[in-house]
Amino acid sequence: MEINNFKAYCDQFDRASSELKLDKDLATLLKYPDRELSVDLPLVRDDKSLTVLRGYRIQHNNARGPFKGGLRFHPCVDKDEVRALSALMTFKTALIDIPFGGGKGGIQVDPEELSTRELEQLTRTFVRAIKPIIGVHTDIPAPDVNTNAQIMAWFMDEYSETHGYTPGIVTGKPISLGGSLGREAATGYGTSIILREVAQHRGIELNGATVVIQGFGNVGTWAAHHLHKFGCKIIAVSDRNGGIVNNNGLDIGALLEHKKESGSIHGFDDTESIDNEAILRLPCDFLIPAALGGVIHKMNANELRCKVVVEAANGPTTPPADDILRHKNIPVIPDILANSGGVVASYYEWVQNLQQHYWDEELVNKKLETKLVNGFYEVAALAHSREELSYRTAAFMIAIKRVADAVTLRGRIS
Ligand code: GLU
Repeated sequence: MEINNFKAYCDQFDRASSELKLDKDLATLLKYPDRELSVDLPLVRDDKSLTVLRGYRIQHNNARGPFKGGLRFHPCVDKDEVRALSALMTFKTALIDIPFGGGKGGIQVDPEELSTRELEQLTRTFVRAIKPIIGVHTDIPAPDVNTNAQIMAWFMDEYSETHGYTPGIVTGKPISLGGSLGREAATGYGTSIILREVAQHRGIELNGATVVIQGFGNVGTWAAHHLHKFGCKIIAVSDRNGGIVNNNGLDIGALLEHKKESGSIHGFDDTESIDNEAILRLPCDFLIPAALGGVIHKMNANELRCKVVVEAANGPTTPPADDILRHKNIPVIPDILANSGGVVASYYEWVQNLQQHYWDEELVNKKLETKLVNGFYEVAALAHSREELSYRTAAFMIAIKRVADAVTLRGRIS
C-alpha cells in the first residue's frame, strides 16, 4: 500500500498545532524543513561499472540545537520520506528535551546488494557530498534503517580526513572509536522502558504480558531482549521474510543465538510461520511495529487485536489508522516518544565526545531511563487532561510548543 510519509506527518502536525492554536505563519515555519540537499553519488562497482545513486540530507529545524538524526540506506528512500523523518526528529528531540534540532539523511539503495568495499565507498562519497552542511555544532548524523556502527566509523574517518579527529560529527560509532556504551541497545531498551511505564499506568500486568514485535533488526531485538527480562511473553517476531509464532512465548536468548548462527529467525524450534500482515492481527497486550513506516493503515487497522500499539519504528501508523484505532480504544504510543531512546543515547555520546571523557554503561542507562520515564508521564498527563487528546497529539503539542518558543526567543520570526 502506497503511503506518503510527509502527508501523514503534516496531518499529525496540523492536529497538534491547531490544538495549540498556533499562529498560522509560525506553524508554516515549523512544519516544513529549513534546508533540503539532494546529491548524486557516483559509485564504481566491483565489476568496474558505474552506478549513480541518489542521496539526501534534510535539515528540518535547529532552533533548539544542531540538526540531529540518522542516515537510512533503503531502496524506498525518497525526498518526502526523508522530509517527514527529519521533522519527526525535531519534535522527538524537543519532546524528550535534549538540546538538538532535527534532520535526516538517506540513500536510495539496497545495501544488501553492495559488497563491503562498495558500501564503504558509497558512505565516503556521501560524506564528501554533504560535508558543507554538517558539523559538530551544525548537524550530527547517526544510524537508522540499514546503517550501523561500521558505517558511522567510515563516516567519522572521512570527515576527520579534512577536519582532524572529530568523533562528535556522528553518533552510533563503535565503542573503540568514541561510541557510547549503551548506545547500540538504546532505542530498543528505551521502547521497553516506555512499554513498562505504559503497562503500569494502564493497569496491565507486565509479568506475562504478551508482546508481538514486527521487525527484528537492531530495535526489535533489543526491545525483545529487555522485555523478556521484564517478564513479558514475546509470542511472535518477524523480519522482512515473514514471522514466527509460539503462543507460549519465545525463548529470546535462544532465538538471538539462532539468528546469530543461521543469519535469520526462521527455522527456530517450536514455532510456526506467519506472514507479515497476519502477525499484526495476533491477539496480544502490546504490538510493537519495529520496522518501516506505514505498516498500520486504513486497510488493516480494524483487524488489530492488541491492547496497545507501541511505535518503535518511525511513522508506522498512518493518520486514518490512528483514527480507527482510537475508535477501537487501542491507544498508540507515538514514535517520537517510544523510540526516542536512540537519540537520547546519541546525545550522551556527543557530550562524551565533546568532553573526551567517557561514562560507564550504568550511568548512560540510568540517565536514559530517567529521561524516558519523565517524557512518558509528561505526555500521559497532557493526554489524560482532555478526553479527546491522543498520546500522539499530546506529544506533538509539547514538542511543537518547545520549538515554537525557541524560534520566537531567537527572533527568527521578526
Ligand atoms: N535514527 C534514530 C531515530 O530515528 C536515531 C537518531 C540519532 O541518534 O540521531 O531516532
